[in-house]
Amino acid sequence: MPVLTVENLSKSYGRIQALRNVSFQVPEGTIFGILGPNGSGKTTTLGTITNILKPTSGSYQLFDKPASAESRRKIGTLLETPNFYHYLSGIKNLEIAAEIKRHGKEDIDHVLEMVDLTRRKDSKFSTYSLGMKQRLAIASCLLGSPSVLIFDEPTNGLDPVGIAEIRELMKTLYREGKTIIMASHLLDEVEKVCTDMAILKRGELIISGKVAEILANEDIVEVAASDNKKLFEVLNGITDKSKIVDENSVIKIYFPVGTANLSEVNNYCFNNGIILNHLLLKKKSLEARFLELTNN
Ligand code: ATP
Repeated sequence: MPVLTVENLSKSYGRIQALRNVSFQVPEGTIFGILGPNGSGKTTTLGTITNILKPTSGSYQLFDKPASAESRRKIGTLLETPNFYHYLSGIKNLEIAAEIKRHGKEDIDHVLEMVDLTRRKDSKFSTYSLGMKQRLAIASCLLGSPSVLIFDEPTNGLDPVGIAEIRELMKTLYREGKTIIMASHLLDEVEKVCTDMAILKRGELIISGKVAEILANEDIVEVAASDNKKLFEVLNGITDKSKIVDENSVIKIYFPVGTANLSEVNNYCFNNGIILNHLLLKKKSLEARFLELTNN
């Protein structure tokens, strides 16, 4: 069952159109990354589905039904760092958060354990590192045991250790069966942490689906011969290729990842009367795939 279905969502701020007809689905039990550069509409998307912003048009469903107070209780959100009391301890701050939410008081010990703050629960918030502050914010989000968590750029501003801790935490929450929806402008983060993704560019959805499928690497074999026109015709006969691109001085043959075989390409050309003067295996980077997808 999809936990979220977004249908033709559009949002304008005056003359600025932040989202244009965006549609995608978040399947249950995934870590779903909304990836896009600054200003692409990630925060606007999260703001809309969490009822902070009203869409200009379009709609969304939570757990296959129109959003309701009941379905919203199953969602924990962390859109910006909450205002914790600096002079109070981590645990006291969570007690206050549970009181404000009117639920989750009984979860405090468990969520502190989850975010690895049990040992520091009695320390003042002001003594926490940035990473610990972010983990406390996530702990607060986990009060009431929501099944879906929504995070906006959860690793922003953290040092490499803090980033690694938050990423590990997200994977742990995923293993425990939570669905996580997170916005990120980092391709590397989405690739490392997420199972599914949607790519936004200037308010439009470029693509959505499984990360492994969208960011699938390809093998590229670069070849050239004295007569590239003839070479191109010959290469058309290779059956297991994905595509061939003539770039004038070289021709690129694309194969599904892991299937390119240089000696087979060489033999094939030779058997068809062509002697290659250039033969090179190149792997396509994820960055290249991302730039190609966003046409940037
Ligand atoms: P970032 O990573 O920088 O937060 P984002 O992908 O989350 O970017 P949004 O914050 O959703 O993108 O912004 C999308 C577009 O809407 C941008 O052009 C932004 O300037 C504009 N925008 C966002 N909020 C407002 C607002 N309150 N008033 C006017 N324009 C806004």
